[in-house]
Amino acid sequence: MKIPKARHLFCPTCKKHTEHKVGEAKKKTRGTAHPMSWGNKLRPYLRGRMGMGNMGKLSKPPGGRMFNRKTSKKVDLRFTCNTCKKTHMAGKAWRSRKVEFI
Ligand SMILES: [Zn+2]
Repeated sequence: MKIPKARHLFCPTCKKHTEHKVGEAKKKTRGTAHPMSWGNKLRPYLRGRMGMGNMGKLSKPPGGRMFNRKTSKKVDLRFTCNTCKKTHMAGKAWRSRKVEFI
């Protein structure tokens, strides 16, 4: 699916229509989603060095092979206002196999 790089949209901060830059949301890691989360990434590594292994915790992704069979992903768009540089989200996410910015 092809999406234009720039769009004229309503900015909630400027309270008027301005030019917006369109982009996809950055993939969130554990640190960005939960900055105050308990534990660190080093601990499982050190546990492995002590010869205790990771108790199977890192051997497969969450859900394993039972899920993740879909070929499309949800498109998460972010609009950045060129005037105030604030970012806001699209109203609704939809599914698409491939996203291109033209
Ligand atoms: Zn704005």
